[in-house]
Amino acid sequence: MINITKPFLPDMKEYIEYLEGIWDREWLTNNGPLVNDLELKLKDFLQLKHMLYLGNGTIALQIAIKALELKNEIITTPFSYVATTTSIIWENCKPVFADIDPKTLNVDADKIEALITPETTGILLTHVYGNPCDVEKIDQIAQKHGLKVIYDGAHAFAVKYKGRSIFEYGDISTTSFHATKLFHTIEGGAVFTKEANLLRKMSLLRNFGHSGNEQFEEPGINGKNSEFHAAMGLVNLKKTDQVLASRKRQSLHYDQVTATVRVTRPEIHKDSEWNYSYYPVIFESEEQLKKAVAMLNSHWIYPRRYFYPSLSNLPYLEHQPCPISEDISKRVLCLPMYHTLRQEDIEYIGRLLLRAQNN
Ligand SMILES: *Cc1c(COP(=O)(O)O)cnc(C)c1O
Repeated sequence: MINITKPFLPDMKEYIEYLEGIWDREWLTNNGPLVNDLELKLKDFLQLKHMLYLGNGTIALQIAIKALELKNEIITTPFSYVATTTSIIWENCKPVFADIDPKTLNVDADKIEALITPETTGILLTHVYGNPCDVEKIDQIAQKHGLKVIYDGAHAFAVKYKGRSIFEYGDISTTSFHATKLFHTIEGGAVFTKEANLLRKMSLLRNFGHSGNEQFEEPGINGKNSEFHAAMGLVNLKKTDQVLASRKRQSLHYDQVTATVRVTRPEIHKDSEWNYSYYPVIFESEEQLKKAVAMLNSHWIYPRRYFYPSLSNLPYLEHQPCPISEDISKRVLCLPMYHTLRQEDIEYIGRLLLRAQNN
């Protein structure tokens, strides 16, 4: 069986060494030494000055929205994982969807301004599949209208834009270190910002608003992560270059085997160094996609419809038409991608896609 993804698991011995340290110190959570070490090593890896390690990528989004005090309307993408939208709703704001660019699958920056109203306070966009948004144009629009920007970089670990980490952009960037992501800590996430006051505020929010044992400065939440999760991150980080290299190799191999399959691929931003984190293909029709899925499934291969449905079609939201996102969502499929996926698996998937197309 070949699934859409498989979590990376490091050598268990290395993990156990970290566990022995935890048993020695008897310090399990609450900003422990492994959490601190992981934050330092991640900053070093990403060449960033500031980050906070959190419990998951969703609490990262919520803490970002809370820290920026966003209210009312937030302009966002209809083409992402559902957590991007639900964190907005969870923070009592209204998601206002800007439709995507059919080539990049990120929000079309030219569609943002028309959606700004006196109620708009922020913009929350995803670098979908790790493909950077049009960050410069978005920044200009935000400045012009006094809006705050959050980027959901859950797919964008190790992505660079013009030579710098993509997490440097926006007032706050967030990411996820969930087990299915390219770099993971089982569960986990992070926020990134350059502003010292925002960093301080988010570190208070992460820990119930404690600014001392008996002092509470903000109505915070529990956004912390544990020593056990940080240990997984420390071990996995050592292997991240290998994981990145295997993703790239696999992606280029998929390019070859799908060359004669009638699918298109998203256009990756030309000023970026991409992480090859997913392999999305866009079929000519939903019918073609369904044929391909049926063919793969009948051979025990399970791709996923990332991202379907378009978030503009969520049943608990009033429908805001986003024709491009709604069309692409029906036709896009992510093919299996994980570190141990073999060359022959990719070739097999390519042959099955061709067979489905010619059926
Ligand atoms: C995975 C993901 C999240 C949520 O991250 P968790 O760590 O699972 O909470 C948010 N946004 C996007 C785009 C994601 O893919």
